[in-house]
Amino acid sequence: MNDPKDTTHAATLRASTEVLTRGFDPRLSLGTARPAVFRSSTYVFSSPEAAERAFSVASGRSRAADGENVELIYARLNHPNAQIVEDHLTPLESGARAAAVFNSGMAAIMTAITTFALPGESIVYTVPLYGGTQHLIHQFLEPFGLRGFPVPAGDEAQLDGAIRAAPNLRIVFLETPANPTLLMTGIARAVETARELPHRDADRPPLVFVDNTFLGPVFQHPLLHGADLVLYSATKYLSGFSDLLAGAVLARDPALIEQVKARRVIFGNILPPDECWMLDGRLPTVTLRMNRASKNAQRIAEHVRTHPSIERVHYPSLFEDPGQIRIRDAQCDYPGALLSLELKGGKPAAFDFLRHLRIARDAVSLGGVETLVCHPKTTTHSPLSAAELAQAGVGDGLVRISVGIEDWRDLLRDFEQALNKL
Ligand SMILES: *Cc1c(COP(=O)(O)O)cnc(C)c1O
Repeated sequence: MNDPKDTTHAATLRASTEVLTRGFDPRLSLGTARPAVFRSSTYVFSSPEAAERAFSVASGRSRAADGENVELIYARLNHPNAQIVEDHLTPLESGARAAAVFNSGMAAIMTAITTFALPGESIVYTVPLYGGTQHLIHQFLEPFGLRGFPVPAGDEAQLDGAIRAAPNLRIVFLETPANPTLLMTGIARAVETARELPHRDADRPPLVFVDNTFLGPVFQHPLLHGADLVLYSATKYLSGFSDLLAGAVLARDPALIEQVKARRVIFGNILPPDECWMLDGRLPTVTLRMNRASKNAQRIAEHVRTHPSIERVHYPSLFEDPGQIRIRDAQCDYPGALLSLELKGGKPAAFDFLRHLRIARDAVSLGGVETLVCHPKTTTHSPLSAAELAQAGVGDGLVRISVGIEDWRDLLRDFEQALNKL
């Protein structure tokens, strides 16, 4: 990629440098070394002409010239902390040229889908899908007139078939790896199939979205595999401390992000200044946190796999299916920090395991610096039907672990003492 010795131009800087150097200008906030918080809901114009110009650009009637300082208007449209965090998110996502932040991952997903898909069009999506996204499709988008076509995660032939068969296909929505069994779906192949559709409407080609919450932005780079939009629950790894709700959408094509932001103005779901500031402060450490958590998880997964109380460990470095191994090697740099254990003894064993843990806490969510464990069948996946649970690989003895950045030896000992009691 970039020549590591050439640091003469900003475009050649690596992500971990850019996240600390680009965008934010200390002169605009009294010289503060780190961004200040700008809580104002409205902004004072330097002249009536500047106000007129700001509205003309904000409404899309004209475009800002390169280097033009278009003044801010009102915080639902845009505010300095959103601009700063979007500037810092962009280099972290390989291939991205623009970002938009939202007040939750669901807000990002809902806004992105409804920006691009209209009633009468269809969306093909992998299952299992994050529960909120599944509800969004069934309880809002389908009654609204959008048609949804589910495809089992990792089944490439079915995905190709659904992409080719869906009427007025507008969005291919991939969540990879899938929750909680970490089944992976090939991004490049889905992109290729969508691009090859015959008689494509040039104005409304199908777009490929990837919910990259589980492995991004550090270990999986969907835009480099041709995806159009990457979506995040920034509540998870991007913010990393389980104390903030946020979402993000990134793209290679800034025009797509402009469209999403125009919809965000209407919905009023931009991430507020305080949350933008908090998220911005977490971004320089996302690579450090994810690397540490992934190393921890890999050591734990590989140590506990042979424990007599365990039927099976779901973790990318332990994949055995050749198709899954091929996808993993093609699109994931490291296996990540989520793993699932299938315990012998069903629900009683799973509940006892959760009860015996001393360090890991029983909670949903993931991606924080602390280790969390949950029982998907009775919690996150409890709304699913028996057929959907079977298809998702969610059984009575399954527990999902989001490994944090504690010392892995302490975590391993905690898991082993809880397993030994089963
Ligand atoms: C948590 C999560 C979401 C939803 O994000 P919120 O920030 O809770 O709204 C979407 N997708 C995935 C994969 C998630 O884990």
